Amino acid sequence: MTITDVIPNLTRAMMPSENEIRRARRRLHAKALTIVALFFASYWGLVIADNRTLVRFGCAITLIVAVVAVATGIMHDANHGAFSSSRRVNKIVGYTLDVLGGSSWLWRFKHNTLHHGNTNVVGVDSDIDQGPVARLAPQQQWRPWHRYQHVYLWFIYGLLAIRWFLMADFVNLLTNRIGAQPLAVNRRRRDVVFLICGKLVHLTWAVIVPLMFNPWWGVLAFYLVSSWIVGFLLATIFQMAHCVDAAEFVDEGTACKGKQFQMHQINTTVDINFRFIPLRWLMRWLVGGLDHQVVHHLVPKLPHTLYPKMRKRLEAACLTHGITLRTHVSMLDALRSHGRWLKLMGQQPSVIVTVPPIDVIGRP
Ligand SMILES: [Zn+2]
Repeated sequence: MTITDVIPNLTRAMMPSENEIRRARRRLHAKALTIVALFFASYWGLVIADNRTLVRFGCAITLIVAVVAVATGIMHDANHGAFSSSRRVNKIVGYTLDVLGGSSWLWRFKHNTLHHGNTNVVGVDSDIDQGPVARLAPQQQWRPWHRYQHVYLWFIYGLLAIRWFLMADFVNLLTNRIGAQPLAVNRRRRDVVFLICGKLVHLTWAVIVPLMFNPWWGVLAFYLVSSWIVGFLLATIFQMAHCVDAAEFVDEGTACKGKQFQMHQINTTVDINFRFIPLRWLMRWLVGGLDHQVVHHLVPKLPHTLYPKMRKRLEAACLTHGITLRTHVSMLDALRSHGRWLKLMGQQPSVIVTVPPIDVIGRP
């Protein structure tokens, strides 16, 4: 019996019961309500109420945490179809991404189809495609500035949210591509209108309303700094799972679907153990269960509040079959693994030296 034959049993071994899914969804909905309450309370305290500087500072940090949690703990589940058993509810809740400035319509194609369906497949998975800015896989072309990517790329990660809001979605629509892949979505007028409305809603709550109560320089400074922090945290959370020296990268055309799907996901995805972090529960809450990325990639349509339980079952099943689940032993280990990978990929690939035929070497 080959590994590929065993794998379907692994997924079956970790699957939750209907009751467990219902309870997990209730926990997810309670979490979503908490996040929304935190968002509105901190927004009011920072933007509208006339609070002292220290209180506003606390509200600013809470607002940033709430925005990251909306992305990882609400919109990610909803756009995977995991937030509710109703397709319509998932779609409506998925619009939280539009409120944050990105398009949920394009995200579903980019994240669910390109990334989840082709994890670490070079040339297809857009999460490992930074264009000429960075080299994230051995198959990508090397350029001289990549030598320094382990230094400058961290700063560029912070531009993810603002680039998404102002540029990326429009570029994808105009060029009809996402990275190297054609944008294979149904382009209905309604979707484009929703995309533009989402951008306007984001502009209204994040810039226009704050300008009515605060000086322009304060609004601008907070928007730039907070969007940099949000972009940095989101990009880093996702990169630590795949763009690391503990994961595999494969060529386009490699079998990664059907029978191969699950083993491919196990080989290209790495979990994080938050063992050494004092506030582990807070980190788990903040990353929306994405410390258990392997489970997420195997069954993305289940709520993330189930992942810790499922990971334990998966681990036991893997142990029985001698399969290793790739795991960073700590958060620091995950960051180091990503840094090492950036440095390795930044080195110029070795040039093949042509050796002269043996009979002309060293002969007078
Ligand atoms: Zn996902």
